[in-house]
Amino acid sequence: MLGILGGGQLGSMFTMAAKTMGYRVTVLDPDPNAPAARFADQHLCAKFDDPKALAELAKCAAVTTEFENVNAQAMRDLAQHTRVSPSGDCVAIAQNRILEKSWIRKAGLQTAPYQVIEKMADIGAESSQYLSGILKTATLGYDGKGQIRVNTLDELRQAFVSHGEVPCVLEKMVDLRGEISVVVCRLNADAIAAFDPAENFHENGILAYSVVPARLPESVQNQARSMAICLANELDYVGVLAVEMFVVGDAGDLIVNEIAPRPHNSGHHTIDACLASQFQQQVRLMCGFAPADTRLQQACCMANILGDVWGDDGGEPNWSAVLDNPQAHLHLYGKTQARVGRKMGHLTVLADTADVAYLLAKQSHSQLKP
Ligand code: ATP
Ligand code: MG
Ligand code: MG
Repeated sequence: MLGILGGGQLGSMFTMAAKTMGYRVTVLDPDPNAPAARFADQHLCAKFDDPKALAELAKCAAVTTEFENVNAQAMRDLAQHTRVSPSGDCVAIAQNRILEKSWIRKAGLQTAPYQVIEKMADIGAESSQYLSGILKTATLGYDGKGQIRVNTLDELRQAFVSHGEVPCVLEKMVDLRGEISVVVCRLNADAIAAFDPAENFHENGILAYSVVPARLPESVQNQARSMAICLANELDYVGVLAVEMFVVGDAGDLIVNEIAPRPHNSGHHTIDACLASQFQQQVRLMCGFAPADTRLQQACCMANILGDVWGDDGGEPNWSAVLDNPQAHLHLYGKTQARVGRKMGHLTVLADTADVAYLLAKQSHSQLKP
């Protein structure tokens, strides 16, 4: 039996992968309708720090997580009883931008210039050099939530108040030319592999499309892979780690934006375009097996399907826009309530080139709304 903290779509795709590989799965998630519960052998419907539920998880042969905002201490405690990956320490780093950025720099990699702002008095003359910037809460942000753009010290103070004066990072706006991400699979220093970098496009702060292979020079892609691998090694990471990077300036330098201690939305194409998906890799690694082949089999583009494409009257999207294309794959997460901005599923289109895949994915996506 394998255990997972969280039963959202990532937990759901993990559970499906584990089941096909012959494992049974226990999911801990307080939501009775958690997507992963559809496939799980056991659904512990309880809070993430519920001692009884954690005791049940501790009986699993191995435990992992599908999101970073779990109680890192609970993961450390679980590790007294069973194999836990990634470690609570790694999750603690990924869930706090302040720790995360200092780790990235410790690994010798670049981040956007930033200042830690923990109290009002931290805002002063020094802050000016990070303007225009983005004030990001240190914890709990995702899909661009918890971020306010600021141009002046006054706006910065206001933004800090709007965030409730919780610890924040003020990040200088960088000259963004593109965004990529690398999903790394690591068992140990000798068993580590990275998927090809994905080229990511966001809409309203939410990932919209991932194109693979990224349309960047081979040298840049290799550099991205080595940076992600370097970070995973620095963290002595076990499991699947996603590293988001920015391509900046005329030189196209790579800097690290943030990491996620789990499979990543930009890695969903691996289900259809690689021999082993990022979720199968997560299963392998948590059980102590080396990563499987990460090579891309075909160029592809993943498009997220948000609640936005349901009809204004709640009508179902036009699924034939995807299914009519024999090279397109539809994945729906089984969420019953479609809401604007909510991730309901994704589609992946395979094609001969990344350009064509991107074009076809955009076409299918634009025809979804009834
Ligand atoms: P996620 O859902 O990926 O966890 P998040 O809420 O943690 O998102 P970030 O990844 O930090 O947010 O930022 C969201 C997006 O905002 C980035 O993908 C990028 O497009 C833009 N962005 C963030 N930081 C900067 C920056 N310093 N300069 C320019 N653009 C930025
Ligand atoms: Mg984030
Ligand atoms: Mg991000």
